[in-house]
Amino acid sequence: MLLENKVVIVTGAASPRGIGKATARVLAANGARVVILDLREEDAVAAARDLGEGHLGLACNVTRKEDCLVAVEGVLQKYGRVDGLINNAGITQPLRVMDIAAENFDAVVDVNLRGSLYMSQAVIPHMKKQSSGSIVCMSSVSAQRGGGIFGGPHYSAAKAGVLGLARAMARELGGDNVRVNSITPGLIQTDITGDKLTPEMRAEIIKGIPLNRLGNAEDVANACLYLISDLSSYLTGVTLDVNGGMLI
Ligand code: NAD
Repeated sequence: MLLENKVVIVTGAASPRGIGKATARVLAANGARVVILDLREEDAVAAARDLGEGHLGLACNVTRKEDCLVAVEGVLQKYGRVDGLINNAGITQPLRVMDIAAENFDAVVDVNLRGSLYMSQAVIPHMKKQSSGSIVCMSSVSAQRGGGIFGGPHYSAAKAGVLGLARAMARELGGDNVRVNSITPGLIQTDITGDKLTPEMRAEIIKGIPLNRLGNAEDVANACLYLISDLSSYLTGVTLDVNGGMLI
């Protein structure tokens, strides 16, 4: 199987309809040992149990460096290695530019951008030691188009920051055979977006999507599988647009 004997961490993967959980399922179905990290231990443990035997769920707030280090230590204790990291945890706030207060900015940048840095810092020394590893950073079409109905300008900025961070890490770590790539999902039906769309909003959005539908979590999960596995062994520093053609 594609990910036989590989250990892959997915952050923010306990949300039942989320991209992280769908990604965890796809990775597990392809042979990986999956580690689900999320804010609440019971949610992470339950989500890992849903995947079947041999997976792990741990509490980890990615905005706290200590949490990230302790979680990765737990992974190493259990499996002795870490092959992949998907920096998926994220939050949005539907604010307009003049309504963004300091605490809004901090919260959104902390989870989306600082969390991606801290989790990467926690795994990189081990990947370097192994001379192999793949990190995927979840950005968003909001970084490319600016705005969106669910994120605010601070979300766009944080997700654009994620792209820069990923490319810089890709350049720095290439010599260690650690690859770093990003995904920019378009509008994906999850709890972030799910029930908040009226039929009129949905129809209007779909008009701008050549593939004529919203994305689903599995569309993004399959892109994660590609970037985490050796199928993408000569890709680093790239951004995969999983958006149905929204930017054509
Ligand atoms: P979701 O809300 O379903 O899942 C996000 C998860 O992150 C939740 O399980 C939440 O508990 C967790 N989380 C939040 N803060 C955390 C923290 N500090 N530490 C650890 N975990 C934390 O969201 P989703 O739609 O599945 O989004 C997943 C990723 O994809 C996010 O980064 C999001 O910005 C990005 N994205 C989503 C869409 C979309 O349309 N849904 C589009 C583009 C990008």
